[in-house]
Formats: sequence, structure tokens, C-alpha cells
Amino acid sequence: MKDLQPIILSECCSLLKPLIIAGPCSAESEQQMLETAADLARNGVKVFRAGIWKPRTKPGGFEGVGLPGLEWLKKVKQATGMLTATEVATRQHVSDALNAGVDILWIGARTSANPFAMQEIADALQERNADVAVLVKNPVNPDLELWIGAMQRIYNAGIRRLGAIHRGFSAYGKHLYRNMPQWHIPIELRRRYPQLPLICDPSHIGGKRELVAPLSQQAMDMGFDGLIIESHCDPDCALSDKSQQVTPEVLNFILNTIVLRDSVI
Ligand code: PEP
Ligand code: MN
Repeated sequence: MKDLQPIILSECCSLLKPLIIAGPCSAESEQQMLETAADLARNGVKVFRAGIWKPRTKPGGFEGVGLPGLEWLKKVKQATGMLTATEVATRQHVSDALNAGVDILWIGARTSANPFAMQEIADALQERNADVAVLVKNPVNPDLELWIGAMQRIYNAGIRRLGAIHRGFSAYGKHLYRNMPQWHIPIELRRRYPQLPLICDPSHIGGKRELVAPLSQQAMDMGFDGLIIESHCDPDCALSDKSQQVTPEVLNFILNTIVLRDSVI
């Protein structure tokens, strides 16, 4: 991916545009984390994502490895120099992730739909006087005000390195997309908050590997500032979201194929 330009991830964190965040849906083992991270780092990815606590639709599935995963994130950072990112949904998650030195916290779509949970997270950040970057995914339902409200709670807690992640919106029934892109919603967010970094999550929008490339291109054409893409060293054996994860090699191919042109919006 050529043509990298600096962007500001809010007021004080300067990062490259497009910002690429990649890594597995879930942290599964130390070996899976280190192997995936080494391949991504070799291909120039600077920020590594992995879910430690996983919000699953139904009980009984893999709900994340919890605290050991934070140790693996530390090892990824030591071994590769990448920044690390994980999802937080509770006060305890915030505290554990901050204690482990995670660089970027993201808030998932089920959590951003819940003002009580958002306020709890905001309070936990404020109590710690945290200076961490926070990315807020859109709520599962297509409610722009709820998304903005979730980000305002984080902003009001003193967080200035703030960004939004568009991961699509739930719909009942079978569709091409796992979550409907409804692009007009993030575009309206961009119109109202032109300085707010806006990142696209083609993995959770598409739900299928073959949709990652075209959705990424669409997002770049619309002027998104970055992409968060699920990548796993052995996607077919992933414990969550296996049909949408791509190997680091495929991700590298996708990123090298994306054409960066002046955005149409
Ligand atoms: C994830 O990023 O793995 C995740 C659970 O995402 P979302 O909150 O968008 O469903
Ligand atoms: Mn996932």
C-alpha cells in the first residue's frame, strides 16, 4: 500500500493513513498470537487486534481466554513492536487492559448500544485518568444518535484520542452481508464530525472472506481513514468468526491491491 500520509487519530496521536489494524477475532493461544503477529508485522501492519473477552450471541460457545490473553498481547508488542488493541465491555476489562498496557481499546457493537455499559466504561476511564486511544464501534442497530452518544460519553471522560468503527448493522434474515453496511450512516457521521477518525471493519460487515477486499476498497473510496481486518494464521480452525478471517498472506495481497484515490465524498 503506497501513498501513506499521516493522519491524526484525534488530537495527539499521529498515525498513518490508511491506518491498518489487523489480527485475529479472538486470542486463542500464545502460539496463534505470536505467529499471526509476526506475519502481519513482516507485512508492515503496525497495530495488532485480538479479542480477549468475546461477546457471543449464545451461551456455551468460546467466550475468550481472558487474562492470559493480555500477557500474550504484551509478548506480541515486545516481539514485533506493534501497538496492541482489544475490546472492553466492563469496568473490570478497562482496568485489566490498562494495567496490561494495551494501547487502543475498542468498544463492541453490543456494548455501544447500551448507555449504562458505555457510562460504566467511561467512568472507569475517567477514574484512571486514562490516556489511551478508544475506538467505538457502531451499535448493532442503525441508530446514529446512539453511536454519537456512546462516543460523547467517552469524550466526556477525558479521552481525546477517539475514533469510530463502522462494522455494519444487524438485520433479520439471510442477506449478502452479515451486517448491512448502510453507508449513509457513517457518511452522515463524517459530515457532522469531519475531524473524527472513521475506520471500516469489512470483516464484520461482510462476514465472508471474499467480501473483505471489495468492502475495503469501497471504504477507501468513501474516504475512511483506516481498516480493521480480522486475520488469523489458520482461519479454518479459528474459534470464532472463522468464515470472515483471512491469513496474513491474503491480507497483504488485499492491502496491496487496494487502490487509493481521491475519495468521492
Ligand atoms: C470483534 O471485533 O471481534 C467483534 C466482536 O465485533 P463486533 O462488536 O463488531 O460484533
Ligand atoms: Mn470477530
